[in-house]
Amino acid sequence: RAKQSGGDAVRVVVDVEGLLRARHPAAGRGLARAIEKLELRLHYQPIIRVRDRAIEGVEALVRWQHPEQGRLLPQQFLPDVARAGLLPELDRWVLEAACADFRGWTAELGDRAPRHLNVNISADTLVADGLETMVMEALDSAGLAPDRLRLELPESAELSVLTGAVSQLAAVRRHGVAIMLDDMGAGLSTLRHLSVLPVSGIKIDQLFVSGMLSNRNDHAVVRLLSDLGHNLGLAVTAEGVETAEHLAELRRLGVPHAQGFYTGRPQPPDRLFDTLQGTLLPGPAPWLAAAG
Ligand code: C2E
Ligand code: MG
Ligand code: MG
Ligand code: MG
Repeated sequence: RAKQSGGDAVRVVVDVEGLLRARHPAAGRGLARAIEKLELRLHYQPIIRVRDRAIEGVEALVRWQHPEQGRLLPQQFLPDVARAGLLPELDRWVLEAACADFRGWTAELGDRAPRHLNVNISADTLVADGLETMVMEALDSAGLAPDRLRLELPESAELSVLTGAVSQLAAVRRHGVAIMLDDMGAGLSTLRHLSVLPVSGIKIDQLFVSGMLSNRNDHAVVRLLSDLGHNLGLAVTAEGVETAEHLAELRRLGVPHAQGFYTGRPQPPDRLFDTLQGTLLPGPAPWLAAAG
């Protein structure tokens, strides 16, 4: 495993073959033949404050820069990583690399850096022990304060999996790390999750946001989750904001935070840094000026 962090791009090279041989000799052979080296990159997507469109956070999203197939999206390779039992390894690398990048931006931009770094954590990582150690080590080695980090939990994970991790999540939260429920509304046991887990915020699934202007049902779900979050004192982010009309409607509904292709695409670290510097200018961010 080799890791180069900082500078213009975070590049994590994962020796999948070696890991597979060491840990999963049977499962490994097939995948190891197909994949000699897994080259991971992080992209970052802005999360904006609806009120003034300031970038309040960024979400780290993993990509695989495949030597022949080019850039692969998570859905194209996470299932294989999961089958090989390597999701906890992947999550750890993402967490470490993202904390290092984010620390760099806070050093450069000070108060004007985004407040939060969001990192996705898979159910497999929650089942495995050691979340607290993994998170605190990543924060320590980057020199990042825990209250800058937010973990996004897959809402699709079974409640039993998530509840098995309650004490680990509570421990992490005691350090000041926030816990967000991702893709809220997409699964079935969503509302029960809120009762059982030490959750600090929710992310409204993009399907409801993209449908809300044409479908009354979707609109009602966005409103419901927004009100619910507000009443419970949770941070609420709407995902999948693709148009100016989406953003305007979220503003009307009082949803505080938005994330989507309209408010900012996932982008490599160097381009995100340029974007962040753009927000230092007075007035609305130039990359949103056309939004009116
Ligand atoms: P997610 O955590 O819900 O991330 C949001 C996904 O929605 C991202 O897809 C993002 O590119 C996409 N997206 C953002 N804005 C819009 C929009 O306006 N419209 C549409 N249609 N899509 C939008 P991506 O990067 O392909 O990631 C897919 C999923 O893979 C993520 O969903 C997350 O569950 C998982 N994932 C990504 N990175 C990681 C990681 O580092 N670790 C783990 N465990 N899972 C990850
Ligand atoms: Mg997420
Ligand atoms: Mg999401
Ligand atoms: Mg999603």
